[in-house]
Amino acid sequence: MNTQAYLSDFLAKQIQKDPAQKVFHQAMQEVVLSLAPVLEQNPIYIKEKILERIVEPERIISFRVPWQDDKGEIHVNRGFRVQFNSALGPYKGGIRFHQSVTQDSLKFLGFEQTFKNSLTTLPLGGGKGGSDFDTRGKSDSEVMRFCHSFINELYHHIGYHTDIPAGDLGCGAREIGYMFGQYKKLTNDFTGAFTGKKPNWGGSLLRPEATGYGIVYFAQNMLATKQDHLQGKTCLVSGCGNVGIHAIEKLIELGAKVVSFMDYDGCIYDPDGVDVEKLAFLKNLVFVQRGSVKAYAQRFSHAEFLPGKRPWAIPCDVAFPTACENELNEQDAHELLKNGCQCLCEGSNMPCTPQAAEAFHAAKILYSPGKASNAGGVAVSGLEMTQNSMRIYWTREEVDAYLQRIMKNIHESCLTAAAQYACAGNYAAGANIAGFKKVADAMLDQGLV
Ligand code: GLU
Repeated sequence: MNTQAYLSDFLAKQIQKDPAQKVFHQAMQEVVLSLAPVLEQNPIYIKEKILERIVEPERIISFRVPWQDDKGEIHVNRGFRVQFNSALGPYKGGIRFHQSVTQDSLKFLGFEQTFKNSLTTLPLGGGKGGSDFDTRGKSDSEVMRFCHSFINELYHHIGYHTDIPAGDLGCGAREIGYMFGQYKKLTNDFTGAFTGKKPNWGGSLLRPEATGYGIVYFAQNMLATKQDHLQGKTCLVSGCGNVGIHAIEKLIELGAKVVSFMDYDGCIYDPDGVDVEKLAFLKNLVFVQRGSVKAYAQRFSHAEFLPGKRPWAIPCDVAFPTACENELNEQDAHELLKNGCQCLCEGSNMPCTPQAAEAFHAAKILYSPGKASNAGGVAVSGLEMTQNSMRIYWTREEVDAYLQRIMKNIHESCLTAAAQYACAGNYAAGANIAGFKKVADAMLDQGLV
């Protein structure tokens, strides 16, 4: 059987196993199809059934999360941890709290995480967890009771050398605090079993900023291949959670003009660009008041609130999708290209639909996949683990220097792998190939486990 036939047969069989897991299939297909040249040059991966093994999570834990709201009413949510692959190190990946969370979405995220973590060059396996619990509209004490209940089960399965969760959508320092506290209470052990902790109790400086800064560093590296830079560029950012806000911060520092950001209610278009003062307002709005971005347009003249909209129709040079999977479709991609977008740097995981990704490839613009460009967050989580092991804290400057170096290395690995397997300049294929090879070779070394 030739490689293409093998891959089609492989994908058909996998899809048949869990026909409803659409988003996982999308991620699997994207990775697997780009591996054809690797499989051709390394038939051992086919003989040893590495693909069949790598798409199967090592373990999925699914559990009940009962909790009581402030009125005493009982609620039951579902909790999950997908321990996807531990060939390179303990499972590592965030916890997502959002109503959209299902086993399918976490399988997709755990799969992506495995390759992302491999790209960081740190000794990290891949995992992801979460619950269909929505933190929006909940009081602090409700969030605390939920987090404690979540950990009452999860603590059996995680640990400093086993599985180290962190934050993700709907799960920030507050939630990590409650989870870490309960984990410590149950295990009687103060270890770095979580990352994304606050710096006064074991967290790394720059961890909150790391994903957002990292995507901007990655974009800088991409533009540098064309002797270009971010200064003076008009940029779109979408989601304005932890990733989006810190991307905006770094972009302002580098002299770029950010004209958009959004939340669940809609999009802000600010033709004057976000400046330091406006960013301080936005940070307070999002992180402290947990309010809607609408208030930004009420506060600053010229800024417009576009209810229910996304920013992709606004002309720009560089776009940073930072909200969630499949937030940018084919029509959006054509709109961006028509308006002159020359660089698309993914901040969220798989934000582009396959058709949108295809449009960017066909147009040959600079286009990076999330598993490469958003790896700065988990990379600094890896550095947080190192600091915890050494029982020291590094300065902000030290962590930033590591982060910049890691993002540069990931950028280089993508380009090197792409060039080696005849798809020069294709960051998506390069990231898949480089991420896959490291995990696959470790799996070969470790035998059938
Ligand atoms: N949730 C983040 C990611 O998607 C961070 C994971 C971590 O720090 O473990 O990479």
